[in-house]
Amino acid sequence: MKKMIVTLIAVFGLVGGVYGFIQHRAQSKQQQTNQQTKLRVVTTNSILEDMVHNVGQDHIELYSIVKRGTDPHEYEPQPTDISKATAADVIFHNGLNLETGGNGWFRKLVKIAHKQFEKDVFAASKGIQVQHLTTNQTEPDPHAWLDLANGIQYVENITKALQTKDPAHADDYRKNADRYTARLRKLHTDAQTKFADIPANQRVLVTSEGAFKYFGKAYQVTPVYIWEINTESQGTPEQMKTVLAKIADSDVKHLFVESSVSPKSMEKVAQETGLPIYAKIFTDSLAQRGKQGDTYYTMMKWNLDKIHDGLVGQ
Ligand SMILES: [Zn+2]
Repeated sequence: MKKMIVTLIAVFGLVGGVYGFIQHRAQSKQQQTNQQTKLRVVTTNSILEDMVHNVGQDHIELYSIVKRGTDPHEYEPQPTDISKATAADVIFHNGLNLETGGNGWFRKLVKIAHKQFEKDVFAASKGIQVQHLTTNQTEPDPHAWLDLANGIQYVENITKALQTKDPAHADDYRKNADRYTARLRKLHTDAQTKFADIPANQRVLVTSEGAFKYFGKAYQVTPVYIWEINTESQGTPEQMKTVLAKIADSDVKHLFVESSVSPKSMEKVAQETGLPIYAKIFTDSLAQRGKQGDTYYTMMKWNLDKIHDGLVGQ
């Protein structure tokens, strides 16, 4: 009898132990899934960060590498960038050699983070009609987002990738994207006729970097620049000569300078031509949070308004 009781206690003890173990495992697994419900997304720059935020909203945990006001063409990844990229479920870059031209910092980062292009690393610019550098016809010009129609394509690509990586929230991603692209489309449609009131020889946009090819084509503005792309040498005597000649040939009233480059070269052009710099505009980075132009929509709106008013001559 005593032996039987001991055996029973032992059996119940064992069963209880196993049950407790299973229960504990189930609980910790639940905790894990709660922590992991948010898709971890990394973007290379603030423009992509804002687009991804508009689609992903609260379902994602978002980190962006190149800080606002900084040039994304050349960059040195920091330890936090590497750990965030390594832990990421999906990484978005612009593509078209924005981050892989020059020192090719992004390609190195993808390798260090053990990620793969097309599997967990996606180019937001996929499928857009590419324009090439004038100085090198084999090199794509990366600044496609400055045409809002391309920006809409970026948002579509981002949405598809998020839906694939996180099918549980696919409907929300679609709804968020539709709401967002409707606003972008309205801004694009308005912009297409915005510059029609300015004579063609006055509709000339002078900037430091030649970032406005896509913008110029979409909104009928002729871009003139000192250097073609930030990865090349900037403000050389030859470049200065060329830009001054082009300005002399036009009826342009104002110059512009981008928020993510040094204004020195454009200040020199202003001195030489006597034309004032009208405004700072946004190309490769959004404004700091809380300032005007801190989202893709407001950056484009700011650019369109400032460029228009500067070209009119107000
Ligand atoms: Zn650029």
